[in-house]
Amino acid sequence: MYCHVIVDIVHENVAKPFIYSIPEGMELCRGQRVAVPFGPREKEGIVLNLTEETDYDPEKIREVLRPLEDYVAIPEPLMALAEEMAFKTHCPLAETLRLMLPAQMRGGRVRVRTEKTAVLCVAPEEALRLAAEDRRSGKRAALLHILADGESHTLKELAEQVKDPRTALQKLESEGLIRVSEQEVLRRPGDPFAVAADPGYTLTEGQREALEEILPALEGRGGKFLLHGVTGSGKTEVFMASVRETLRQEKGAIILVPEIALTPQMVSWFRGRFGPQAAVIHSRLSPGERYDEWRRILRGDARVVIGARSAVFSPVQNLGLIVVDEEHETTYLSDRHPRYDARDIAVSRCGREGASLILASATPSILSFARARRGDYMLLEMPRRVGDRPLPEVSLIDMRTELENGNRTVLSGELRRALTACFRNGEQAMLLMNRRGYNSFVSCRSCGYVVKCPNCDISMTYHIGASDGLLRCHYCGTLMRPPSACPSCGSGSIKYFGAGTQKVEEEVRKLLPEAGVSRMDLDTTSGKDGHGKILEEFRSGRTQILIGTQMIAKGLDFPRVTLVGVIAADMMLNLPDYRSRERTFQLLTQVAGRAGRGRRPGTVIIQTYHPEDRIMNYAARQDYRAFFEDEFRRRRQGLYPPFTILARILAESPAEEQAESAVAEKERQVRAVLEEHPDWAKKVLLILNDVPSVRILRGKYRRHLIMKLLVSPETDAFCGAVTELCSVPAEEAEIWFELNPTTMM
Ligand code: ADP
Ligand code: ZN
Ligand code: ZN
Repeated sequence: MYCHVIVDIVHENVAKPFIYSIPEGMELCRGQRVAVPFGPREKEGIVLNLTEETDYDPEKIREVLRPLEDYVAIPEPLMALAEEMAFKTHCPLAETLRLMLPAQMRGGRVRVRTEKTAVLCVAPEEALRLAAEDRRSGKRAALLHILADGESHTLKELAEQVKDPRTALQKLESEGLIRVSEQEVLRRPGDPFAVAADPGYTLTEGQREALEEILPALEGRGGKFLLHGVTGSGKTEVFMASVRETLRQEKGAIILVPEIALTPQMVSWFRGRFGPQAAVIHSRLSPGERYDEWRRILRGDARVVIGARSAVFSPVQNLGLIVVDEEHETTYLSDRHPRYDARDIAVSRCGREGASLILASATPSILSFARARRGDYMLLEMPRRVGDRPLPEVSLIDMRTELENGNRTVLSGELRRALTACFRNGEQAMLLMNRRGYNSFVSCRSCGYVVKCPNCDISMTYHIGASDGLLRCHYCGTLMRPPSACPSCGSGSIKYFGAGTQKVEEEVRKLLPEAGVSRMDLDTTSGKDGHGKILEEFRSGRTQILIGTQMIAKGLDFPRVTLVGVIAADMMLNLPDYRSRERTFQLLTQVAGRAGRGRRPGTVIIQTYHPEDRIMNYAARQDYRAFFEDEFRRRRQGLYPPFTILARILAESPAEEQAESAVAEKERQVRAVLEEHPDWAKKVLLILNDVPSVRILRGKYRRHLIMKLLVSPETDAFCGAVTELCSVPAEEAEIWFELNPTTMM
């Protein structure tokens, strides 16, 4: 008997399965991990398939050394998924298989933990009788009482209840009453999330109508849904009821959230209702805890998994449902290799495993909404908030007028008045400023020189506080002291421009010195449980004003927030990216949706230099449909995705000429391929060799070849060929081929 093994090495020469023979008496299955000899070394691998025949010389075939576990680590549906991903993204199987395992499991960096455990060997009644008879040793009787429940107890646990139990346990063991052995124990993560009780809501009409469509699909053959519900319409209850039904069908569920630290409420609701059946995968798990949670899922002990992007690969047995909450979030796209979109993976898994899919958002991505309109997903609408609370009143403030009136601060008069009133009324406010730091750039008044990061072609941000008055690069973290004279012309008139969250915080404190103000951005949330502490302070009311970057726009539910202010709404609109309009609409609508979720109605103030822009007005009206129609039309006319595919070949090198020549070389090859395949060439709308807007990043020069392609089978074939071209390393340059990259900069 032989087996094909994918050896866990990522190298183009090893990107194929190797054949090994299976020694007598060893039983292996597809998906099991094995140790195999590889060259002079021992390597880990995954069994791809078993076969009885081979064309290889049997003399030359080496033997599998041993299985690494006695179970299948990658169950069949995930093996098939890894194969599909490898095929579609032209990526080695060894790499896609890695996504299916806890990282630390590879190379044996985490192990099963065992502990000494005691268990009763006689009938419980017998133990209780002996305990009652025992007059000498209180310890012996106490131990017998505990163990009479028939469960195994670790020695550690027994020692917490009975002081120094060792001798007494040895005695009990020698009497043959108990057995002490090393047993596997699971590390249960210390839970940073509170557990919330089931509030036992009566469903709203919207929730009921959505569930009337979803529940039959869960009972039957599965379905795909796009749940478009306005902010505060109660989407979470719909997920919860769907998960409950899934469990009733003895199936499992995966709930994906954009970022687990920002969804503590969702997690505590799930913990409260599904208890130990729920596994929470978050970034603060230790490798051991992560490994044990993964095994709990694989064994079917945990049947509901909540986590961010990578939780979509959880080995949930008998999968019945995947929910993707806030499906428009870009965090569902992985930009590391192998690149994937968790929503596409969810679609693929649901199809293969007969599970249902719920994508949910108040502002669905253009792509998903277009698919729903085409009939790929069933569209479920929840147009009203829970309890028929009104959507907040939104006003647009023209910041040009503020400037004309001599207001040079970041807060408009309107927002100042609203903040003060909100605070005086004992209510809470959230302020969005989508940039951290104090000033966004430092520049010379005389010659216009802008201080940029020496490693990146990006302006440095000025931070106050902990990194006391230093300039910082938001891409590579480089710190430097601000120059006192212009490095270019020597002039002393160095000025600081553009505001960030720190500046907003300072002005709010000045305006309302007695208010509790907290700031949530990358700088304040890096510590252990940084998000949790800030959110808890705000929830409890100890702080009344929360200032933050887009982090604060993501699905938070604080009923006492009645005011939301957006400081600089145009910031994203001006980015050179075809998605900037979509992202601006989503961010504004989402953050506006944080207001008025409780009994008191909400007000939203959006400060902008483009109050006439259509996007600003759709967001102000929270009119998703109008936004969608407008943006869909614009994409069709401009031939942007989803009507086309944007692709680019990116080269990065410490030497600019190398990046340039690498891209020039790839361009020649691409054009040669197209000359050979005129049918592919018809689908190519544009090829542009260009310098990206960020010319240097982390010390590397960059150059890219942008291609705009029509969506077609020929394009798939063409992309396959380009992937192959790009897998050949270039001289002194790294080459990336990206399809619809998250950013074009
Ligand atoms: P969404 O995700 O759609 O913005 P949530 O699921 O966060 O909305 O729900 C908004 C609020 O309404 C939450 O505080 C939630 O507890 C509450 N809620 C949800 N459903 C009901 C219901 N049927 N009755 C009363 N309150 C509800
Ligand atoms: Zn100068
Ligand atoms: Zn930098």
